Amino acid sequence: MKRLDVGTQIRYLKGIGPKKALLFQKLGIHIIDDLLYYFPRRYQDRSSFTTISKLKEGQIHTIKARVLAKGGRNSFRRKGFSITEVAVGDASGRISCVWFNQPYLKDYFKVGQSLVLYGKIERYGNQLQMSSPEFEIVIEEEGESLNTGGIIPVYSLPEGLTQRSFRSLVKRCLDECLPSLKDFLPYDIRLRNKLLNLAQSLINIHFPVELGLQKQAYRRLAFEEFFLFQIPLALRKLKRKEKVGIAHKVDGGLAEAFIDTLPFKFTSYQEKVIAEIKADMAKPTVMQRLLQGDVGSGKTVVAAVASLFAVQGGYQVAFMVPTEILAQQHYEKICSQLLRLRSHNRKIKLGFLAGCLSNKEKQAVYQEIKGGKIDIIIGTHALLEADIAFKNLGLVVIDEQHKFGVGQRALLSGKGLNPDILIMTATPIPRTLAITIYGDLDVSVIKGLPPGRKPIKTVHFNQEEKGKAYLIAREQLLRRNQVYIVYPVIEESYALDIAGATKMYNQFKEGEFKEFKLGLIHGKLKEDEQNLVMGRFKQKSLDILVSTTILEVGIDISSATCMIIEHAERFGLSQLHQLRGRVGRGAEESYCLLISRAQTEEAKRRLQAMVEYGDGFKIAEEDLRIRGPGEFFGERQHGLAELKIANPLTQMQLLKKAREEAIRLVNNEPCLSGRQSLLLKAKLMQRFPEYEKLMVVG
Ligand code: ADP
Ligand code: MG
Repeated sequence: MKRLDVGTQIRYLKGIGPKKALLFQKLGIHIIDDLLYYFPRRYQDRSSFTTISKLKEGQIHTIKARVLAKGGRNSFRRKGFSITEVAVGDASGRISCVWFNQPYLKDYFKVGQSLVLYGKIERYGNQLQMSSPEFEIVIEEEGESLNTGGIIPVYSLPEGLTQRSFRSLVKRCLDECLPSLKDFLPYDIRLRNKLLNLAQSLINIHFPVELGLQKQAYRRLAFEEFFLFQIPLALRKLKRKEKVGIAHKVDGGLAEAFIDTLPFKFTSYQEKVIAEIKADMAKPTVMQRLLQGDVGSGKTVVAAVASLFAVQGGYQVAFMVPTEILAQQHYEKICSQLLRLRSHNRKIKLGFLAGCLSNKEKQAVYQEIKGGKIDIIIGTHALLEADIAFKNLGLVVIDEQHKFGVGQRALLSGKGLNPDILIMTATPIPRTLAITIYGDLDVSVIKGLPPGRKPIKTVHFNQEEKGKAYLIAREQLLRRNQVYIVYPVIEESYALDIAGATKMYNQFKEGEFKEFKLGLIHGKLKEDEQNLVMGRFKQKSLDILVSTTILEVGIDISSATCMIIEHAERFGLSQLHQLRGRVGRGAEESYCLLISRAQTEEAKRRLQAMVEYGDGFKIAEEDLRIRGPGEFFGERQHGLAELKIANPLTQMQLLKKAREEAIRLVNNEPCLSGRQSLLLKAKLMQRFPEYEKLMVVG
């Protein structure tokens, strides 16, 4: 038979039928390489044996013993239920081992065989027994044991795959593949960072001889993940610095005139950020800057200033946001702000583009964009249409970046000749994580909120107390204020949850809030229907808006002073914070009322963080700490979901090292063309096929 290598398909392995192969596939395991990178969830230390006479009821022990007899309760069999019993003994005594519903085990054991068993000791009548132990038949003198004895890996497995068979498959693949396995991490990098080689690491992550080695294996594999992830970022940054960009004419006075018309003074953070953007835009290189700031911190107005830096030199600006409602809102807001500039002799033309426009309207907008008649076009992903060509796109602004993929970012900037890019996000990301995800971007931060904002009163009620929350909402309604009531939506059970919001809307209408006017909005409504409902709420022809998380992004209505979030335990903290940012937009006191069935300590702690903290950065850190980075973002584009063992929060030092090595390598070999890097390059292409272009020679 052909020797196996890491590229061999799992389904060709002996003992893996189509059914099993499917289970493996569900785990993301297609080839042996995937299997070897499917790391244990935890380990059990079974390295010390206990003699049978010393076994204690209620404890978990490992014993080494011989099969004395089979049977006993073996005959015990009822419909759909069976017990297999085997008596084993060592020099100190004997004990029964029992397994439930595994009748085939009966034929597995032979009297006289030597076994290592691992399991819980329980009382049965007046005797002790070992219940459903894991076991391994010991071939004398073999010494090595896979399932018992030593430190044993435990994997997260679905039903249908046993720890036992999974372990032996991993072992088999390691044995077969390691001799020919080459390490793709260049030798000097391993040396400098004191990293175990790949083969040793894989052995010791699965079957550690001792915990010290397991730690080293873990360190190497985590480094590897960080490193692979940082290379494309480093490459992108490098290529960007090499590109010739636009040197914007930032001193034309237009932006300054605009700033003069604003009814407020910028905070010191806003000023600093504007200075950073101004300096970047003036340079003949390409700006790629991430602007982070809490909801309501004043990012949009900063983006407007940046837009004017571009416009005054005759360039166009594309401003992309994730939803139609938001595009509409930005359009109106910026229009009204720019209106005050009228006295200034330069008239600025704004455009709006979204899916709701008719074809004819769209074509007209396209023409205006192409002819350079529109200076600033605000829109949704409709801006990415292939038909759209700009006269001279000079700046791309992307709001709420986490809703767009990296590819979409590139698509839009591709419509100009290396335009500057400003990306805004209201999900504040702690610095280490920002490096991990946005390693290729420069980062600006607006901390805090403009002065004069009242903190939002946040209260947590449990399910039984929700009447209290409704009472607070009612008080607000009676003061002619408006209320949001939000229900969670989980993708998998989309229909179910929307039915929840719909049902509650109908209930409220007939009961709790029958004297008020209610609206319902959710993602299954068409965009124009959503806009209609939103519009009615904005004009105050609705008092209460029952909704799903569609509200999360950027909606700004100042007379909405109260938000009730039901099933709050089902939201991420950052998401709750985003939602909460929809209230507290006016001068009046605002409320965020969380209703939950939080049962676990963790769930309660999370909601408590919402009550305690108003600062989005604090909340994001808490969220990350609790959920871990993978779930915090959970999107493929960030690659964080792909980090299997590396954790940027707890392994900052390692991340820094990996990043430095990535930058060093890329600076030395921009195409990774060195002999040492061949394997690495292949690995990268396999891991990130979308980055292939970055790595070709040229
Ligand atoms: P973000 O986009 O970060 O959520 P916005 O730019 O929409 O925040 O700002 C929220 C509100 O605060 C807007 O009405 C805006 O005009 C106002 N604002 C922005 N900066 C300031 C400031 N320095 N002082 C007072 N109000 C401000
Ligand atoms: Mg905003």
